[in-house]
Amino acid sequence: MANECLFCRILAGKIPATFVYEDDLCVAFPDINPQARAHVLIVPKEHLVSLAYAAPKHTALLGHLMATAAEVARRQHLERGYRVVVNTGTEGGQTVEHLHLHLLGGRYMDWPPG
Ligand code: AMP
Ligand code: ZN
Repeated sequence: MANECLFCRILAGKIPATFVYEDDLCVAFPDINPQARAHVLIVPKEHLVSLAYAAPKHTALLGHLMATAAEVARRQHLERGYRVVVNTGTEGGQTVEHLHLHLLGGRYMDWPPG
């Protein structure tokens, strides 16, 4: 746990969030500033700064996060489709330096993204 990390503080219960999913490896909770009707963050319990820091030992975890996004999408009834986004680094639009997946749904998604 990184003390100064927002998502580590949420994982430690120091900042409130409503977990819509939790298992041994990750949690999911609504984004505080939703960009779609459904906007859920899937966050690993392990502090990993970003996807750019992923190593071969993280392969199973990364797969689990993707599978969890699909499970949360089912729970959120996003049968019509959704988008999973991993903002990475400054130019990637990442603002919280703890790896997370955005699950966005409930509206039509534009392409290319901004
Ligand atoms: P990113 O910009 O990809 O790093 O995503 C970080 C996300 O965290 C943003 O969409 C924020 O709205 C969201 N966020 C920041 N603080 C909180 C919080 N306390 N609870 C839930 N989501 C948050
Ligand atoms: Zn963290």
